[in-house]
Amino acid sequence: MSYTNFIKETLDILDLNITFNENGLKKERIKGRICQVFSGTLDYAAHVCPHCESKENTAIIRWGFTTCLILLNDVSEYQTYLRLKKRHFFCYSCNRSFVAKTSLVEKHCSISTKVKLSIADRLRKTTSMSEIARQKKVSVSSVYRVLKRFYEPKKINRLTLPEVLCFDEFKSVKQVAASISFIMMDGQTKQLIDVVENRQLPFLERYFSRFSLSVRKTVKYIVCDMYAPYFSLVKKLFPTAQIILDCFHIVQLISRTFLKHRIQRMNTFLHQGNTEAKKYRHLKKY
Ligand SMILES: [Zn+2]
Repeated sequence: MSYTNFIKETLDILDLNITFNENGLKKERIKGRICQVFSGTLDYAAHVCPHCESKENTAIIRWGFTTCLILLNDVSEYQTYLRLKKRHFFCYSCNRSFVAKTSLVEKHCSISTKVKLSIADRLRKTTSMSEIARQKKVSVSSVYRVLKRFYEPKKINRLTLPEVLCFDEFKSVKQVAASISFIMMDGQTKQLIDVVENRQLPFLERYFSRFSLSVRKTVKYIVCDMYAPYFSLVKKLFPTAQIILDCFHIVQLISRTFLKHRIQRMNTFLHQGNTEAKKYRHLKKY
């Protein structure tokens, strides 16, 4: 196997027009970090000008190289770059120049497509954007750009509601004014329906008022926790729906109450002599 093919296989590069210089691998300090830098060349014969689409053979000539540094996925824990010499062309038909194209990286970008795919894959998991940025050695705004490009925002259907609705709340992002946001799911398909910034009653009432009464009447069951405003909401806006308390929240309430009482009882034995100290320890330990 040739050196170029070996490096291509290692770095998972498919572009046939890239060749690697032998002894081209170096360790360099980039942005304060020791990095691995491979050196390669991108060259081919261009037959068509991208500006004027001229196909005349004599019109396009080779016009030197431009070099760029492309971020690749890490190789053996090293931040890895490819210093790529890209062929520059000049077109005599339109007197303009252009640079050789590669599938490795998009135009005007120094982060390789493979790194972007890896970021997109990590975005599917519950990892923060800043942590992904740290892992992939890119800026948080680069992660955000990948997010915007790969994921379409959820289109919200405002005309229908499912038969079973599940309500819950979660601690939202910093930018949101409310401390707790509201989330709603279809109980049968388990698909997320929508997120409302604030879970307080006036906000939810305003939100659900968008649905007509006939649509709201199609909801048969609402699964939620024991947050009192949900009951008022359901009574007012979902006249035909039945409230179902989620088992999870019931079990959670029981275990929290039990824990609270245990700690209260345990603390009464504190600083009460030796026998009481034993009871304290037992309650704490078991
Ligand atoms: Zn041209």
